[in-house]
Amino acid sequence: MSKKTFMEKIINSDYRYDDIDSRVKGSTFKSEARTADRRIKACPKCSFCWEKDYHRTQSTHNRKQGKVKYLYYEDFPTYGKQVKTCPRCKKKETHEYSKIKTR
Ligand SMILES: [Zn+2]
Repeated sequence: MSKKTFMEKIINSDYRYDDIDSRVKGSTFKSEARTADRRIKACPKCSFCWEKDYHRTQSTHNRKQGKVKYLYYEDFPTYGKQVKTCPRCKKKETHEYSKIKTR
């Protein structure tokens, strides 16, 4: 149950962005959820928390293509998080950004 609700908080990208793939292996992700907390950053622009997806980035397929994968979380507690603009906002600062702006 907790796994399911947690998974539901993982954002499916609601606009096109090919670096984002929300499919996460549940068991792997769950076991890492606590330690992952430390490397999660809070984006001041979109209010999403985000982190580099090490597992996916290090896959042979993505390494060959030089792709870096990121995970995004909505409604994730930002307390104690490092504040850093996410790669999505950096790239899309003006383009389609208003779609996900929450205020
Ligand atoms: Zn952002």
